[in-house]
Amino acid sequence: MARILVVGGSLGGLLAANMLWRDGHDVQVLEKVRGSMNGRGAGIVSHDALTAALERAGVNDGTNLGVEVPGRVLLDPDGSTHTQLPMPQVLTSWSRLYALLRHALPPERYLQGASVSGVDATARGVTVHGQVDGVAEAWSADLLVASDGIRSTVRQQLLPDVQPRYAGYVAWRGVCDEALLSRHTMETLFPYFGFCVPEGEQIIGYPVAGADRDTAVGHRAYNFVWYRPAAAGAALKSLMTDADGQHHPLGIAPNKVSWRQVARMREDGRVLLAPQWAQVVQKTALPFLQPIYDLACDQLAHGRVAVMGDAAFVARPHIGMGVTKAAQDAAALCDAIREHGATADALLAFEASCLPRGRSAVARARWLGAALEGVVEAGSVDRPQQAIAETAIDLGRYGHLSGFKDRMTA
Ligand SMILES: Cc1cc2nc3c(=O)[nH]c(=O)nc-3n(C[C@H](O)[C@H](O)[C@H](O)COP(=O)(O)OP(=O)(O)OC[C@H]3O[C@@H](n4cnc5c(N)ncnc54)[C@H](O)[C@@H]3O)c2cc1C
Repeated sequence: MARILVVGGSLGGLLAANMLWRDGHDVQVLEKVRGSMNGRGAGIVSHDALTAALERAGVNDGTNLGVEVPGRVLLDPDGSTHTQLPMPQVLTSWSRLYALLRHALPPERYLQGASVSGVDATARGVTVHGQVDGVAEAWSADLLVASDGIRSTVRQQLLPDVQPRYAGYVAWRGVCDEALLSRHTMETLFPYFGFCVPEGEQIIGYPVAGADRDTAVGHRAYNFVWYRPAAAGAALKSLMTDADGQHHPLGIAPNKVSWRQVARMREDGRVLLAPQWAQVVQKTALPFLQPIYDLACDQLAHGRVAVMGDAAFVARPHIGMGVTKAAQDAAALCDAIREHGATADALLAFEASCLPRGRSAVARARWLGAALEGVVEAGSVDRPQQAIAETAIDLGRYGHLSGFKDRMTA
């Protein structure tokens, strides 16, 4: 049994901690946020690989993960159906997965209010430095797993040159209660993984559990992500500045977004989007904004420190794989430790398994987002068709149908 510290208690850290704990290790999660983390995040597309990883983490005993859709629908701007694809998929949510994973881990293994500031690693182990509620602390272990997200403190110490790269567009996100939607929207959009692709933009959405993770008819919600270009600099800064003039470069929480920006976004929705989509955007009480980034590391193993999840690779959300990739990283880490023990060699084996997958995820997501970034010529890709056929597909089931393989080297 090894002593293993996991920095970051979001979905990636929790997946790793649960798997490692079930393998008999003495695991401690250090999460800087104190208090409830519910209400973070929104909808999450599930893939078979995620379901398998959840099972390994001890949480999927046939539990209802979310809402199942029978397929996809692409709406034209006039609201008529352009294309339908039968492609069943289960749509879950950040809070559902978080609750399941937290419940599966003994509470004493999850320390909140613990903010990590640095790590000292030797050939025999690691010492992590940080604070708990403002009081300096240090923790020692055989291994450290850094799952502390896109702005990872641990990665920035080990690989200071690796920085997220802004993709040139933002995602407006939100969740709309189904009770607020018209019968027409409920019939033509709500049951499906939906798409609408105005020139240079894209909106996608799907049904998810409503308040209190309720999946009963009448209590669900529709989760949307609307990708819109925003040039780096003044345009982006203005979007990310709240009504009090405070700048939030990484994304604005739902209650902070400037009402002027929300009003403008809703007005644009009326002009650009199918009426069903415009209604979803209009009726969503608290939309929020996230800039879209790419991030890729060339090294995930640093002696006895492993970097995983969004700390290692961030692929744009078009592939809907962030949580699934974090789950695959966690599983690869456990496999490597089973084979090599809690050693630096295990982390090298983990790196060899995860680097190609991370690179491929980032490349595929960039390919899907290229038109939004303005780097493909207008008309060179059938964008609406590409969006409905490729966005967030389960590669295990439909990867052979993807056009991406042919363009890997393009
Ligand atoms: C618009 C959008 C849509 C998305 N849709 C999907 C989808 O459909 N499917 C999907 O699988 N993924 C999706 N994702 C991606 C997904 O949200 C992430 O990839 C996933 O949550 C994995 O994150 P993580 O646990 O590695 O990091 P994070 O979720 O970023 O967690 C990092 C954790 O570390 C903690 N932390 C940070 N610094 C410290 C520190 N110094 N000390 C202690 N703790 C610290 C943070 O508080 C946080 O809890 C989407 C993302 C976006 C932006």
